[in-house]
Amino acid sequence: MRVLVVSDIHANIVAFEAVLEDAGPFDMIWSLGDIVGYGPEPNACISRLLEYPQLSIAGNHDWAVLGRLNLDEFNSDARLANLWTRENLSPCSRDFLEVLPETYLWGDFTLAHGSPRHPIWEYLFYITMAEVNFRHFESQVCFVGHTHVPVIFQKFPEGEGCQVLAIPDEPLSLAGPARYIINPGSVGQPRDGDPRAAYAVLDTEAMTLSFQRAPYDIERTQKAMRRAGLPPRLIARLSYGW
Ligand code: ZN
Repeated sequence: MRVLVVSDIHANIVAFEAVLEDAGPFDMIWSLGDIVGYGPEPNACISRLLEYPQLSIAGNHDWAVLGRLNLDEFNSDARLANLWTRENLSPCSRDFLEVLPETYLWGDFTLAHGSPRHPIWEYLFYITMAEVNFRHFESQVCFVGHTHVPVIFQKFPEGEGCQVLAIPDEPLSLAGPARYIINPGSVGQPRDGDPRAAYAVLDTEAMTLSFQRAPYDIERTQKAMRRAGLPPRLIARLSYGW
């Protein structure tokens, strides 16, 4: 099975369409949370996702829109964008977000937005945090999002500690014995200095994962954000991938 692994679409339908086009054929989408928040088209992103067989989990922005998180914990731009999303979310989109689980286990793969230990909020930027988190899931691989930065943490069962691997140009083999925590990066608001939409394609038979980037019409998204009256800093950052 070929799985399109996406995270942090953040209501950026132009970026999401570019990824769907760029990815080639796939059997299913796994979405690692934060499908809404920041961007101008939350409903379009959710209905497009639901056209495919898909598995989705909740992110902090998804929960905040539902009023399950205190918006005081968001920075002011994120808070404003979240309040805008609340007002513009359709009942169907709300129904979709309401039932998203915090984690999902699919065979050799666990899905969690932030981390397997604290799925909604924990950021896995550092190796020390990643290492602790290997104790909090059973499967061989855990996919996460949340930081908007692609990363591969690798840990061998007998070895001490874990390591960060460079994002490879060629498909990464996930065949054992090593275990992994992997972030495919963000579709709708990349923060690794590359403004192109980030995603990954998993081949569950070959046990390989390809990291990909799809260029998209950033200005189109920025225009829609301006029309929606979303915060200028959120509009500007898309140009820089930060
Ligand atoms: Zn996010």
